[in-house]
Amino acid sequence: DQNEEKLNEYLDELEFLAYTAGASVEKRFTQKMTQPDAKTFVGSGKAEEIKEYVKENEIGTVIFDDELSPSQLKNLERELEVKIIDRTNLILDIFAQRAQTSYARTQVELAQYEYLLPRLTRMWTHLERQRGGIGMRGPGETEIETDRRIIRDRISLLKAKLKSIDKQMTTQRQNRGKMVRVALVGYTNVGKSTLMNALSKSEVFAENKLFATLDTTVRKVVIGNLPFLLTDTVGFIRKLPTQLVESFKSTLDEVREADLLIHVVDISHESFEDHIDSVNQTLMEINAHQKPMIMVFNKIDAFAYEQKSEDDLTPSTRKNISLEAWMKTWMAKSKHPTVFISALNKENFPEMKKLIYEEVHRIHISRFPYND
Ligand code: GDP
Repeated sequence: DQNEEKLNEYLDELEFLAYTAGASVEKRFTQKMTQPDAKTFVGSGKAEEIKEYVKENEIGTVIFDDELSPSQLKNLERELEVKIIDRTNLILDIFAQRAQTSYARTQVELAQYEYLLPRLTRMWTHLERQRGGIGMRGPGETEIETDRRIIRDRISLLKAKLKSIDKQMTTQRQNRGKMVRVALVGYTNVGKSTLMNALSKSEVFAENKLFATLDTTVRKVVIGNLPFLLTDTVGFIRKLPTQLVESFKSTLDEVREADLLIHVVDISHESFEDHIDSVNQTLMEINAHQKPMIMVFNKIDAFAYEQKSEDDLTPSTRKNISLEAWMKTWMAKSKHPTVFISALNKENFPEMKKLIYEEVHRIHISRFPYND
């Protein structure tokens, strides 16, 4: 069943996110519903089932693969008597753990407060209701009012701080002159940092976890005497919290202002087509979808082979399509120059470099027509 397959892939990703945040997952619960329950996201029977499991196995946290509304969060917490984390909260947590520069830390902190604010409000209304509403203004309410004011002040402060850093970064970008700018884009964990390292011979943090890259790195790269600037950007992901899209403006500006995009795809991942769609969707949202682009299909060394039987010596690949067939299909289908590589083994690097060179050169001579 295709829906079930998708569901499993989504939960695989959620589990990977949880692992990245430092948790280990013991059990998965799924439910078929036309739309989430307004009060508790899952239905009451499912909630009961989760509650029992959590109690019996002394589970500390339940994670939901969607952003829960403030009231759903509150209701679930009350019903399941366990810590509840939603997808947004989980991703924010990972970003918080991994933010290295003060810019990234400021961005994450802002996103976290923006996530928190409406959830405090709900807690407050909940308290108010318990106290009987009007005429029952107790100290709890004042406390939360104060908290909310503090958070709002903090949000304004962080926004001001980001604005001034954004200005600085814009100036920095302008000062980089007319060198051609290339940005690596792609779903998270596809190998962008690895490729950046291989191309620029620098050491960028690469790790098999989601969002290893939070901050933008810019390196000068030279291919065939032609220098250009290469930027590594934060990995895109399905359902990236809107609070983050907003606050990672500068990171996305690098993409928006790039002359050429290198779209890296992990071809060994079972849902790589979905990843391509997610990335293109984000590019569309920031109005960068019409830039020149090179498609780099990475991890060909890890392309999964699935042997049908013991004496079947020609292994069939994912969905029974061989890597070669995939290559042909994508080469024919893609309207962008396309190359298949392994960033890890530097396989097909000459071919990739030639493609990059040709594109950068084309942009370069359109900019400097007389001194090529
Ligand atoms: P990023 O999140 O897109 O920057 O991805 P990274 O560069 O951090 O790589 C994510 C993981 O994929 C790391 O464990 C890399 O070692 C691994 N990786 C990168 N390129 C390749 C490749 O060509 N083949 C294989 N098998 N693994 C790769």
